[in-house]
Amino acid sequence: MIQVWLRPGTQKAVASGHPWVYRNQIDPEAGDLASMPSAEPGSLVTVHDSRGRYLGSGFYNPRSMITVRLLTHRLETPDDSLIVRRIEEALAFREANRRPDTDSYRLVFAEADRLPGLIVDQYGDTVVLQVLALGMERWQETAAACLVEKLRPARLILKNDDPIRLKEGLELYQRAYYGDLARQVTIRENGLLMKADLDQGQKTGYFLDQKANHDRLRRFCAGRRVLDAFCYSGGFALNAAAAGAVAVTAVDISPEAVTLALVNAELNGLSEKITFASANAFDFLREAVAKRQSFDTIVLDPPAFAKSHGARDGARRGYKEINLSAFRLLGPGGILATHSCSYHMPQPMFIETVMEAAWDARRTVRLLAVHRQDFDHPVLGGYPESHYLKSLWVEVIA
Ligand code: SAH
Repeated sequence: MIQVWLRPGTQKAVASGHPWVYRNQIDPEAGDLASMPSAEPGSLVTVHDSRGRYLGSGFYNPRSMITVRLLTHRLETPDDSLIVRRIEEALAFREANRRPDTDSYRLVFAEADRLPGLIVDQYGDTVVLQVLALGMERWQETAAACLVEKLRPARLILKNDDPIRLKEGLELYQRAYYGDLARQVTIRENGLLMKADLDQGQKTGYFLDQKANHDRLRRFCAGRRVLDAFCYSGGFALNAAAAGAVAVTAVDISPEAVTLALVNAELNGLSEKITFASANAFDFLREAVAKRQSFDTIVLDPPAFAKSHGARDGARRGYKEINLSAFRLLGPGGILATHSCSYHMPQPMFIETVMEAAWDARRTVRLLAVHRQDFDHPVLGGYPESHYLKSLWVEVIA
């Protein structure tokens, strides 16, 4: 394997378990790169600090800002058996934490399961596999064959259509690796039936990361009027209705999402309780405040406002605005479940922003709990990017 050496003083994160080497950390004048223009894109390399000390092995892509993704920090050569072992570990962790009323899980969460660039989602008897990094493409066959053998699914779909692949130099396609190319599947989450759109849907078809929080909402719903802002396919809204909410309002800017949420409500006999609106949630919240409407429980689950460190201030303003409106719509005893899925909005900053919004709305509040993404999106030590979803549960006291 070709040796990639890092510039002096840049090894700290990698030496503490981080799986990424950025282009600007690499010393082009040292290691094997000193004598060759580049390593083969997608090939395996070893990574060393500026004195040549071994840090780990992974795959190399000169086109990507994240130029090396490490598969191991130990002295071992990544091969098929390492990939299979990692998949087995990931499956065992899900198996140990599986809940009886939920049949869909993220089985492999890429770097957080030490399989950089590999996503595997289970939707009932369907497995969806997605490769997001050039170097992982060569192990796609190994991974897919292993998953079919171990899980015996009805189908395994290669959903390699995320535009992020273009940046890696990979083409976009979808095809069935095993079984048929299903476009829609019906999954079970917390005892509810949910249709997931594997073709045009967001993520690989469903926000599996919010399952546990959907369930947590249930205890704040009986006899209450609930607002689910940024509802996508209705995960929070349906759990609220199933848990005895008297009325649920669900809002999403995407008409396709609202249609899917409506279908899901009908599928569970809950459509009479839920009012759907296809609208910009910022406007919806502002207008609800202007009309002096009120709710007892509100969920905010917007898309990532901060996609980079530089976008943080703008994102903060966005979070502030929607949380401020939400607090204005809640009275004493009201519950706000508010989320941020931007890694670039750190948890302390998000809490501070939400607390400022409460203060500006003249509400006295109690922070009941702070949760994160569900267990099947694990948080890996040394890789802080794997903790991305913050879920704050706030009660209005006065
Ligand atoms: N709460 C959902 C996931 C929400 S993902 C669940 O638990 O499954 C974020 C959603 O916000 C997406 O469906 C997206 O269509 C929607 N969205 C993005 N911008 C929006 C806006 N300005 N107003 C309302 N919805 C928006």
